[in-house]
Amino acid sequence: MYEMTCPKCSTQILPEWFFCPHCGNILQEKTFSVSIMSQLGMYAASFLLAPIGLHWAFRYLKIKDAKAKRLGIIIIILTILSISLTVGTFMKIANAYSNTLNNLNKLNSINDVGKMFSYFRVGFTVRAKRELFRA
Ligand SMILES: [Zn+2]
Repeated sequence: MYEMTCPKCSTQILPEWFFCPHCGNILQEKTFSVSIMSQLGMYAASFLLAPIGLHWAFRYLKIKDAKAKRLGIIIIILTILSISLTVGTFMKIANAYSNTLNNLNKLNSINDVGKMFSYFRVGFTVRAKRELFRA
């Protein structure tokens, strides 16, 4: 049943054990591996689909492995970056929109002034015609 022995204390061990139960010698690096492609995919997704990455981030942060933790932290940073960029862009768009609305309001008031002037003009013409015909 036991096919291997601990190189340090020669206790018989199973090949899937990560450390020797007798001396605590680490027998194999906990192979936490996520392929570069799926890492990049997760980075892209956490940036582009903002809060979705946090689900992975918390899962990776729970794993006791430096690489997994780093992955989780990068995902969180990307998520924060993405959200702040989105909020910034949204604020810019909102500002531009309210500026446009303000300008439209200004245009409307200019139109009102224009209408007033044309009413005056019509009034003057009508009065002028009346006076001409009376004369
Ligand atoms: Zn051992």
